[in-house]
Amino acid sequence: MDAVDPSPLRRFVIAKHSITSIFDQLLDFVKDGCAFVDEAWRSEDLGQVAVEEQSLEMQSCAIKLTTIRDVLLRRHMKVAFFGRTSNGKSTVINAMLRDRVLPSGIGHTTNCFLSVEGTDEDEAFLITEASTERRSVTTVNQLAHALHMDPTLDSGTLVKVFWPKSRCALLRDDLGSVSTLDSWIDKFCVDADVFVLVGNAESTLMNTEKLFFHKVSEKISKPNIFILHNRWDASVTEPDYIEEVRNQHLDRCVGFLADELKVVGLDDAAGRIFFVSAKEVLSARMQRAQGMPETGGALAEGFHERLREFQRFERTFESKPGPAGR
Ligand code: GDP
Repeated sequence: MDAVDPSPLRRFVIAKHSITSIFDQLLDFVKDGCAFVDEAWRSEDLGQVAVEEQSLEMQSCAIKLTTIRDVLLRRHMKVAFFGRTSNGKSTVINAMLRDRVLPSGIGHTTNCFLSVEGTDEDEAFLITEASTERRSVTTVNQLAHALHMDPTLDSGTLVKVFWPKSRCALLRDDLGSVSTLDSWIDKFCVDADVFVLVGNAESTLMNTEKLFFHKVSEKISKPNIFILHNRWDASVTEPDYIEEVRNQHLDRCVGFLADELKVVGLDDAAGRIFFVSAKEVLSARMQRAQGMPETGGALAEGFHERLREFQRFERTFESKPGPAGR
């Protein structure tokens, strides 16, 4: 089935391979050309068929092509999750990975930068910037402990978590590199392929969140942005206002994406905004993985609608993977 109808992510990987090989060929031609023109303007024998400026122009072409090729060769799609501490970034990532990969609440105590990549091995492990030593991570508690207790983990340190691909479909196509951070945006995030803003249902977008995306859209033309209103389960306590609140959030975010940032048209903006509960999705998926009914726990009203909304987010996310969609 896969061979006949590959997933959008898989198609993205295949397309990336073909584009890279075209750039490889182009680079070979340009390098040959460079060598010829360089020799030509220096050599008396070739009768001055080229001048020095032409050689410099060719060299600058070669440098540009090399830069583009390096971006294409990046093995992973980079997804940046952004939002205030406790909005649920770790929980959203865990729900997408279908397991408690990242400990929740680490944002309170550490600002380290986390990335998650797939590995072909069976066991999860992590490495840090400070040492190349692999540490096995068999439980999430262990990971949380390692992140909390390690004195070598300064603010801004990169911690790479390698999670078995066999345990998560999203990491399988060599695409899943997900990251979360509260600071160090410039250092790590401006070159991400996809941006996910995790807001919460109780408050509107803050200026810091808006500013970040203004900055991103100055540097990248039409960044791929999704907005999740997480903790939507908490809004059930006020069912009378739920539609009104939802429409208010929706209008503001549509205005932000379409009018302010101009990253999508007015018609498409609503399709990038989702009202979800990552906590519910994660717990339902973990229940199911253990062979229990997903509604085993006590679930708030409207759970199925929120679950469908999360699935719609994942489908849209998978069908717009980064630069190929730009
Ligand atoms: P982060 O700091 O943005 O990574 O936030 P976390 O993922 O650590 O979540 C912070 C807290 O909010 C944790 O206690 C989560 O269990 C809780 N939380 C996350 N998502 C939801 C949600 O959808 N609904 C509710 N009610 N709580 C959530």
